[in-house]
Amino acid sequence: MKLTNSYVRLGENFYESTQPEPVNDPKMFLWNSSLAGELPLLEELNLSEQELAELFSGNKLLPGSEPIALAYAGHQFGHFVPQLGDGRAHIIGEIADHSGERRDIQLKGSGQTSFSRSGDGRYALGPAIREYIMGEAMHVLGIPTTRSLAVTTTGEPVYRETVQPGAVLTRIASSHLRVGTFEYFAARQNHQAIEQLCDFAIKRHYPELQEGGGERFLQLFDKVMEGQIELVVEWLRVGFIHGVMNTDNTAISGETIDYGPCAMMGSYNPKTVFSSIDRDGRYAFGNQPAIVQWNMARFAETLLHLIDKDEKQAIDTLGSRLENFSGQFKQRYLQMMGRKLGLSQIMSSDDALIFGLLDRLEQKQLDYTTGFDRLTQSLSSQSVEQKMLDELGSWYPAWRQRLESQQENSEAIQECMRQANPVVIPRNYHMEQVIQECLESGDASVAEVFLDVLRSPYQSTNKTLQFQVVPEDADVGYQTFCGT
Ligand code: AMP
Ligand code: MG
Repeated sequence: MKLTNSYVRLGENFYESTQPEPVNDPKMFLWNSSLAGELPLLEELNLSEQELAELFSGNKLLPGSEPIALAYAGHQFGHFVPQLGDGRAHIIGEIADHSGERRDIQLKGSGQTSFSRSGDGRYALGPAIREYIMGEAMHVLGIPTTRSLAVTTTGEPVYRETVQPGAVLTRIASSHLRVGTFEYFAARQNHQAIEQLCDFAIKRHYPELQEGGGERFLQLFDKVMEGQIELVVEWLRVGFIHGVMNTDNTAISGETIDYGPCAMMGSYNPKTVFSSIDRDGRYAFGNQPAIVQWNMARFAETLLHLIDKDEKQAIDTLGSRLENFSGQFKQRYLQMMGRKLGLSQIMSSDDALIFGLLDRLEQKQLDYTTGFDRLTQSLSSQSVEQKMLDELGSWYPAWRQRLESQQENSEAIQECMRQANPVVIPRNYHMEQVIQECLESGDASVAEVFLDVLRSPYQSTNKTLQFQVVPEDADVGYQTFCGT
C-alpha cells in the first residue's frame, strides 16, 4: 500500500512540487495512536518510533509520497490577499482510512516553499502542542475537525519573540481545499480551474452530487454553506472561538482548520476576543455566524461563472441562497440551544427563554460551560437547584415550567442535556499551563494526562474534576497570537 496524490493530477498551477527541508534531530513528542489505528497504511508498515519521527518530520518520505505546497489566496481580516499558499506546510500525500475515505497528510513547519514570503517555514513546539490538543478536544466533543497525528521536535530553534524549540505537526484533514483556494483562481479569472476544484470537492466530500450535471455547482455551494452552518453552531455550543476565520482558514469540507489563536470562552459574553491582533472583535465569539456568512459570500463570488453565463442571473441565484443563511442558521442554532436546555422541540416562545438565559449569564458573568452543567445538575440536586434559583431569578422557574410541558421524563431530559453540554473543555488557563510544563520539562506526559481528561468531555469522572474547576480571573488579560 502507498500514498496517493489525487491533487497533483489537477495540474501544476494548483501547487508547487517541493520537498520538506530535513531537520537536525527528529524526535517523536506526541503520537496519536488512536488516529494512526484508523490508517491502514501505517498499521501495515509497523514502524519504530524513530522511523515515525523521521517520516513525520519530513526527513524521510512514505512510499508513493509526492510532496506539494498548495496555492491559495484569502481574505485576511476582510482584506484580499491574492497569493498566500502553504508557506510552511507540505502535503505529503493522501491515505485511505479503514472506510476507504481519503485523507490528506500534511506536515506543518516542514520548511520554506515558494509561498513562504518572509516566513521561515517553521512551527514552534508550543503552538504545535496547542493545535494537537485542540483538534483532539474538538474531535471528542463531536465537532468536525482536522486532527493531528504527530508532533515531532526538530532539535532546531525557532526565532519568534523569543527563541523556542521547533516542531513539525502532522495534520490529517479530509481535504485542504479552502474558500481561499477558489479565490486564488477567481482572482486570476481561471474558470476552468474553479470547475476542476468543484469536481474535486464533489468527488471527495459530496459524491452524491456527481450526477448533478450543470446543477452540481449550486448544489455544492448549498452543501458547503450547510456544512459551515453546522460547524459554527457546534462552535457556539461549546464556547469555541476560532480567532482567525479568514477565508484561507475556511475549509470546504466543513472541518475546523487552523488552530492558531483559537481559545475557549469562559464567562459568557458574545464579545469575547482573545486574539492579540483582532482589535475590532471581527472574530469575536458572537460574531462568528456573521463571518461565516461573509465567507460564504466570498465563496459564492468565485462560482458565478459556473452558475450562469448571465452574471446578473448568477448573482440573483447565489444571492437568494445567501439570503437563506440567516433563517437556516437561526433554526439550527435554536435547535442546538434547545438541546442544551433539554428541549426536544423548539416552539416560537423558546426564543425568549434561550436569549433570556444568555442575557442573565452575561450580566452575572457566569461561566458558559459550568452554567449549563449546573442547570443539568439542578434537575437532580436540590442544593444546585437553589443556587440556580438564586443566580437566575425568575428565569429558572420559567424554564422548569417549560420542561414540564414536554412529554419526556426528567431522566430523558437530563440525558439530552448531558449530551449537549460538556463538563470539561480545554480551558485557556489549563492549556497554557500544560504547554508551559511541556516546554519546561521537554516531556509530553502532562499533555498526555490533559488529553486523557479531555477524552471524557460529557462525563464527570475523578480525572476530570480538577479540570472542571474554573480558575478565578484566569482569562483576564489572556491573549492568543497569530504568527506562531
Ligand atoms: P496561518 O496564520 O497559519 O493561517 O497562515 C497564514 C499564511 O501565512 C499562510 O500562507 C501560511 O503558510 C503563512 N505562514 C504562517 N507562518 C509562516 C511561517 N513561519 N513561514 C512561512 N509562512 C508562514
Ligand atoms: Mg491558515
